[in-house]
Amino acid sequence: MIRERGLISVEQYMGLCNALYYATRDPLGAPGDFTTAPEISQMFGEIVGAALADCWLRAGAPADAAYVELGPGRGTLAADALKVLRQAGFAGEVHFVETSPVLRDVQRQLHPDAEWHEALISIPEGKPLLLVANEFFDALPIRQWIGRKERRIIFEGDRLEFALNGPIREDSPARDAVAWEIGAQLDVRGGVALIVDYGHVRSGFGDTLQAVRGHRYADVLANPGEQDLTAHVDFAALAKAASVGSVEVTRVVSQSEWLERLGIAARADALATAHPERAEDIAAEGKRLCDAGEMGQLFKVMAVHSQSWPAPAGFDA
Ligand code: SAH
Repeated sequence: MIRERGLISVEQYMGLCNALYYATRDPLGAPGDFTTAPEISQMFGEIVGAALADCWLRAGAPADAAYVELGPGRGTLAADALKVLRQAGFAGEVHFVETSPVLRDVQRQLHPDAEWHEALISIPEGKPLLLVANEFFDALPIRQWIGRKERRIIFEGDRLEFALNGPIREDSPARDAVAWEIGAQLDVRGGVALIVDYGHVRSGFGDTLQAVRGHRYADVLANPGEQDLTAHVDFAALAKAASVGSVEVTRVVSQSEWLERLGIAARADALATAHPERAEDIAAEGKRLCDAGEMGQLFKVMAVHSQSWPAPAGFDA
C-alpha cells in the first residue's frame, strides 16, 4: 500500500499493523511479546471483580446485568473478575468484544459460554453493563500531527521513514469512537465501565508511539505487523468522548492508588497465608503492579457510570 500510494498515515499504519499482529498470534506472556497486569497476578482481576461486584450490589443487583470486556486477551482478567462477581451472586451473561480469531479461541477455553462481538453495538439491548477494558485503548490507532500536517510514513529506498518531524501532538478518532460508544451505551442501559491503561491524565505534546517485541522496545517502523504497536492513552480525551448524555466520568487515578485503596495489601496477605510457599512471588507480583518504577504510576484507572448507578469505589478525591 505504501509503495502504491507513496505514503501512509501513522493512523493507517498502526491500524493495519495491529490488525495483522493480533489476528495472527497470542502475544501475551513470557514466550510472547508483552505481559499485562492480569497475566502478572490474579489479584488484579480479583480487584476489578470486587470493584464491579460492589457497584452492582449497590445498584440493587439487577439480574439482567452483563459482564462485558473489550480486548480480553487470554481471558485471564475475565476469569479472575468473574470468580469474585459469581461469589457476590452475579449470574449474568458474558460478552467479549474481540476481533482476533486466535485470541477468541484462547478465550473460549476459559469462557465456553461467552458471546463474541466485533463492537459494543451488537450486545443485546436493555441489559446494564459491567464493562472492563484493560490495555485495550493503547492498541487502537492514533493520528500524529505536526502543526496542521498529519504525520506520514514513506519509503526511503528500502526503508520506511517518517515523512515529517517536529513537535508532535496526538489524537485518536478510533479511541474517541469507542469511548463515545461506552458512554452512549451506559447512558441508555445503565451500568459502569472501568478503563485501565498506560497514559497521561492531561493532553499534551509528545511522540508516544512505541513498538514492543519479545519484551523489548523495538523500532516502530521495523517488521510491520510483527510487533505490538501502542501509544499512551490520553485520558482527558477519553473522558471527554465518554461524557455522553447524563453519564458521569470519574477522576483518573494511578493504578497503584486504585489497587491500594481497594485493598491489594489485604488480598496479598490472605493469599500469602493460604500459600506460604508462594509468599515471595505474591509480594513481587504486588510490587510489579504498584511500584512507581513498574506499572504503578504510568498506568491509570478511570470509570464511567450511568446516573442510575453509583460511582465505583476508589476514585474519591
Ligand atoms: N486485556 C487483555 C489483553 C490486552 S492486549 C489483558 O489485559 O491481558 C489487547 C487486546 O485487544 C487483545 O485481546 C486484542 O486482540 C484486542 N484488540 C486489539 N485491537 C482491537 C480492536 N480494534 N477491536 C477489538 N479488539 C481489539
